[in-house]
Amino acid sequence: MAELVIKDLHVDVDTENGPKEILKGVDLTVRDGEVHAIMGPNGSGKSTLAYAIAGHPKYTITQGSVTLDGVELSDLPVDERARAGLFLGMQYPVEVPGVSMANFLRTAKTALSGEAPKVRTWPKQVNEALTVMDLTSDFSERSVNEGFSGGEKKRGEIAQLELLDPRAAILDEIDSGLDIDALRVVSAGIERFAKKPDKLVLLITHYTRILRYVHPDRVHVFVDGRVKVSGGPELADNLEERGYEQYAK
Ligand code: ADP
Ligand code: MG
Ligand code: MG
Repeated sequence: MAELVIKDLHVDVDTENGPKEILKGVDLTVRDGEVHAIMGPNGSGKSTLAYAIAGHPKYTITQGSVTLDGVELSDLPVDERARAGLFLGMQYPVEVPGVSMANFLRTAKTALSGEAPKVRTWPKQVNEALTVMDLTSDFSERSVNEGFSGGEKKRGEIAQLELLDPRAAILDEIDSGLDIDALRVVSAGIERFAKKPDKLVLLITHYTRILRYVHPDRVHVFVDGRVKVSGGPELADNLEERGYEQYAK
């Protein structure tokens, strides 16, 4: 089972002038096997939603709840949210100089499952996950995200998704900075993940382009820190034609 339930979520961001409310009551339920797209203009709070769920220290949940399979995430430290089955693919993946991808993946997998991955099978799994994302095997010897191209970062994120095997994947603008070939590879990776049992995906995107490759069950339009309207995949087509203006506050 995988079910993400967001209820009346209010979130403040830390600014130089004190806390500022960005999310103003988000309600959203993503059920087992579903892919939901969150779309919306720049500054509407999409990344804030992702960060707040993942537990970024700059974002404070002031009201409401987020549960994954009934477990309240806001009560948990970041690493325990990951152990609870959550994965966040970031808009701007963080560079970790001096830590190779191979080490990072092994450490993350060990932390998640409580035991080191098997030496007989793990390197092969890593190789396969990289190959399917069109990444060469020397990629695993490079420092995490350091000097990676935009496409390499995002393909690396999906390789992580494949290997770490969470239940809920929140992917924030995984499509930004991708050329058409990388977009296809990344989309195929997301679809492959979504089709496994007991998975759900929250796909945050500014553009409809990725939704030609990753087919959402539901589409939500985010405006000013709230879900303004929800619908089926046809809502994305409508946005493509008419833009976000029609939903301005
Ligand atoms: P989106 O991902 O939809 O583009 P964000 O969640 O990144 O939107 O940002 C939502 C709003 O929060 C924006 O108005 C942004 O300026 C504001 N915001 C986010 N982080 C900070 C911060 N650290 N300091 C001040 N304002 C911020
Ligand atoms: Mg599905
Ligand atoms: Mg954003």
